[in-house]
Amino acid sequence: MAHTYDDQNIFAKILRGEIPNSTVLETDHTLAFQDINPLAPVHVLVIPKGAYVSHDHFAAEASEAEIIDFMRATAEVCRMTELSLGVDGDGYRVISNCGADGVQDVPHYHLHVLGGRNLGRMVNTPD
Ligand code: AMP
Repeated sequence: MAHTYDDQNIFAKILRGEIPNSTVLETDHTLAFQDINPLAPVHVLVIPKGAYVSHDHFAAEASEAEIIDFMRATAEVCRMTELSLGVDGDGYRVISNCGADGVQDVPHYHLHVLGGRNLGRMVNTPD
């Protein structure tokens, strides 16, 4: 399937300012905000401002400036939320879902940064 970007997705609307968000960090190319339905004490979404659908789409087609900005922003989110081992945090998990098998709900690339409790095993089997 192609990396077809739907500009009516909810994160596109957040980026256009059409719906509110609880911003954690904003940089030139990246926005981080609180997940509306947190699955852990810390649950922050990190998204590029560009129109990318998935991790591999972003990794293949984003500019170096976008990729560097995005990766540095994730580091800053881990520091700000005190999850980073570098600030004596207890660690975290980063997840990016893609497509049907990845059970991706919002088709704008995002990383989930989760932490604040033991997150259990990496992958659950479907019911
Ligand atoms: P995914 O299944 O990986 O696409 O995850 C989408 C995530 O977006 C879910 O964790 C939702 O809780 C979250 N989400 C959906 N709408 C919003 C919103 N308006 N603001 C913040 N997070 C949202």
